[in-house]
Amino acid sequence: MEKTKHIALVAHDNRKKDLIEWFEYNYQSLLRHRLVCTGTTGRLIEEALLKKLGDEKADYEILKLKSGPLGGDQQLGALITEGRIDMVIFLWDPMQPHPHDVDVKALLRIAVLYNVPIACNRASADFIMSSPLMNERYLPVKKDYETYIKRDVEL
Ligand code: PGA
Repeated sequence: MEKTKHIALVAHDNRKKDLIEWFEYNYQSLLRHRLVCTGTTGRLIEEALLKKLGDEKADYEILKLKSGPLGGDQQLGALITEGRIDMVIFLWDPMQPHPHDVDVKALLRIAVLYNVPIACNRASADFIMSSPLMNERYLPVKKDYETYIKRDVEL
């Protein structure tokens, strides 16, 4: 993980207000990094950034994936497997079922599997943002799955 991190921001509809508030509080630090968002979250983050920066916002590009229920969570999971995401802020809604619950679970699983820091509430996101590691190189321990990949499979 380099000093400049690739940070994914995702929020379910009932948590988007929380995420936007958190983003507005932290945007100056966040802009030192690259942001990746699911579609609707990304649109709202862009609007919030436009309010903060006006025309200067044009210099800052956010990678917007598809909307979560339309495959955005899976796209993000795929980026994690490719080592292209350093951390995830994912404010998911603990009070409502969603049509893409399986995708949400898959994203949480893949982040844990690849040892990618993932904050699921604002307090955890605050702790991540205030970590001195945010502005340093950091090498997360990667589990070695060679034995699993090369296991004998009976046919
Ligand atoms: P959205 O997706 O940002 O497109 O709303 C978030 C999600 O539901 O995973």
